Amino acid sequence: MHAGRYAPSPSGDLHLGNLRTGMLAWLFARWSGREFLLRFEDLDAERTVEGAEAQQLEDLHAVGLTFDSQHGHSSIRQSERLSLYTRAIEQLTESGLTFECFCSRKDIREATRAPHATPGVYPGTCRNLSEAERAHRRAERPASLRLRADRDDDGAAPQVSAQDLLLGEITAGVDDFVLQRNDGAPAYNLAVVVDDHLTGVDQVVRADDLAASAPSQAYLRGLLYGTEAASEVVYAHVPLVLNADGRRLAKRDGAVTRSALREQGLKDEALREMLLDSLGLPAGTLAAALESFDPASLPREPWVFRPTDL
Ligand code: GLU
Repeated sequence: MHAGRYAPSPSGDLHLGNLRTGMLAWLFARWSGREFLLRFEDLDAERTVEGAEAQQLEDLHAVGLTFDSQHGHSSIRQSERLSLYTRAIEQLTESGLTFECFCSRKDIREATRAPHATPGVYPGTCRNLSEAERAHRRAERPASLRLRADRDDDGAAPQVSAQDLLLGEITAGVDDFVLQRNDGAPAYNLAVVVDDHLTGVDQVVRADDLAASAPSQAYLRGLLYGTEAASEVVYAHVPLVLNADGRRLAKRDGAVTRSALREQGLKDEALREMLLDSLGLPAGTLAAALESFDPASLPREPWVFRPTDL
């Protein structure tokens, strides 16, 4: 199967940026003859808001998105798939590809300030702890599990590329990223890779603030599912929606959700057309927009949303 997907986190109402990305994901999938799946990324229990999922689904339908069912389910929920993530982590651990890490964010921040460290890259602090050291550290703080990424003879991280329909080749060094948080929850990168692969997703359209994670995800896919799987996903990282100050649109920017815009009198049809217009596509249904959809003519700059534009 070939599928695209939209994977919101049910942490509240979707805002215009999320809806626009969802619309683009739908357009890319249908344009390329793919199925389109919906996945709720609800592994972060603290951020998950009750009722958000139903509201998000209603909003996505209201702007015209349709989803395909898989195994009789019209969407999947990560919190119901924990055994799949556990199995993937076990598989990596059995191959010697994980290690326990006891660092706090602060420890990592401080370590990467040291000379010769690469800012933001895990410095390898816990990579080679002895069993005795690990036992000692475990008593102080629960461990997260990190991927033991390959290293060349100079200790440099492997350079991995992912193909992006808008950005071209995205290449980055893959460090020892977290697979399981220290509260036991599977980490974002692990769950995404497992879910995309097991549900036949081979096209990922999402906001471009996630572009840097594509090489890590491709690398992990290769480790879990074989070298061919590493390059099975084609990406399209799409520009964000910004507020009038040039910052990433957020709920605090006022009336930026469907329900808030409805209160101001904006009907669903007008909302859909505003989003289509921001993509340079004609007013009308999404099916009609598909006729003129061409990734090469999509705007490459962020869309700046000013409530006064309404
Ligand atoms: N759940 C993520 C978000 O809402 C998207 C993850 C992805 O598309 O890979 O930002």
